[in-house]
Amino acid sequence: MAVPKKKTSKQRKHLRRSAHWKLETPLLVACPKCGELKLSHRVCRACGTYNGRDVLHLEDKKKKKA
Ligand SMILES: [Zn+2]
Repeated sequence: MAVPKKKTSKQRKHLRRSAHWKLETPLLVACPKCGELKLSHRVCRACGTYNGRDVLHLEDKKKKKA
């Protein structure tokens, strides 16, 4: 802060700096296909879809192995 050093008290400075210690929870949303909680803007790990498309092809890999 562009304020003379002594104008900001120790308490005020510490209060300001202690406001950032809390961890933020990751942004979880429900997958539109399977309803599993997933990170937004990430591929769903449960069903492998993103934006309505099958991206990871989890079913195909299972079929090829079997
Ligand atoms: Zn899903």
